[in-house]
Amino acid sequence: MDKKIIVRMAPSPTGNLHIGTARTTLFNYLFAKKYGGKFILRIEDTDKERSTAEFEKNILDGLEWLGLKYDEFFKQSERTEIYRKYLKKMIDDGFAYISQETPTEEGQRNEVVRFKNPNKKIVFDDLIRGQVEFDTTELKDFVIAKSLEEPLYHLAVVIDDFEMGITHIIRGEDHISNTPRQILIQEAIGATRPIYAHLPLILDNDRKKLSKRNHGEAVWIDFYKKQGYLPEALLNFYALLGWNPGTEQEIFSLVELEKTFDIEKVQKSGAIFDEKKLRWINKEHLRLYEENSKKEIEKRIKNKFANTDINSKIVNLIFERIEVYSDVDKLIEVGELDYYFNEPELDSEKIAWKDSNSIEAKKHLTKILDVLDDNEAIMSYAELVGKGNVLWPLRYALSGKDKSPDPFTLLEILGKEKSTERVNKAIGLLK
Ligand code: GLU
Repeated sequence: MDKKIIVRMAPSPTGNLHIGTARTTLFNYLFAKKYGGKFILRIEDTDKERSTAEFEKNILDGLEWLGLKYDEFFKQSERTEIYRKYLKKMIDDGFAYISQETPTEEGQRNEVVRFKNPNKKIVFDDLIRGQVEFDTTELKDFVIAKSLEEPLYHLAVVIDDFEMGITHIIRGEDHISNTPRQILIQEAIGATRPIYAHLPLILDNDRKKLSKRNHGEAVWIDFYKKQGYLPEALLNFYALLGWNPGTEQEIFSLVELEKTFDIEKVQKSGAIFDEKKLRWINKEHLRLYEENSKKEIEKRIKNKFANTDINSKIVNLIFERIEVYSDVDKLIEVGELDYYFNEPELDSEKIAWKDSNSIEAKKHLTKILDVLDDNEAIMSYAELVGKGNVLWPLRYALSGKDKSPDPFTLLEILGKEKSTERVNKAIGLLK
């Protein structure tokens, strides 16, 4: 390809940054990077009733957080003059006309601008879907503007793509049925036809289209940001929504994706959004940034337990057990880490192993008190007098729970001093 590649992402600020939008942005970004092209972000806010500044901010903040940078930025609401000029010319040239209407619903106009449909067959080559054909007759003379100052989506998108020199239009498959209208307008204004690539829809595990109605906030990037997913992991996951490198590699940094991504390898069929896979990818990225991940874990624990010393052992244990930072909060909530952060409340009746009694338990705990830092010594004593007789009271003394990690893990996490304190306390409760 000798012409400089120029692509664009054109979100409408009528909702928060959606997974589908983020995925399409990523594919445009990667395509531009791979070929040393330009990536434009264009806010399509011609629909004044539904567009808001908050949604626009949410989209821009989300893209920044993900790390998807653009080379140029435009807003359609600032380009009315340009659209007006084209509209005027289309009317003068007979490609469009002002149509008198009989409003049937509230808010409809008496007058709109309609495109004069030449009623022809449109054929275009899609990089992903191959040849696509449409008969435009059924589209009739469709509306392209409410007035000279109020262009509608199809018109504004075509003018902008032409004015900005867009060479490739990479967008969701839901736009495929818009393409014939847009090609008709291109032909009317004498624009060159860009190359199209329509990306497969994103589906859930039941093959239902991902939507706010069916999936709630889980379609928004913020939802994942709040749970503590890493932006790098989300990008990695989005890249695999419809694309795969054809190798075994599944974990990619953005820079690796820039090199490997190939639009022609994108599949036609729906891309399944698998949350388990996302969690797994996130875990792999946590490992890539192990130091940072552990710092974040520590920070989250400190938020919940302000005055606790946190040693690296507990952090390592938690690091192994989580896939997403919000899992730390969950572990804390369900009490999985209570033994560490709270002094256990012991029930003296529960200290002794079921076949044993408190005199025995007291004897065993006293015996191992001096060797709490020596697993082998504890184990050989336990083997001598019966494992349960020793390991149960020890585990219970340390955790105060019927279920907890094994006593050796607890000893390691709690450290000698805390462990000794707790075992002593248990001994004190026994007759
Ligand atoms: N503004 C359109 C949308 O948000 C996208 C236009 C396009 O990519 O052609 O759905």
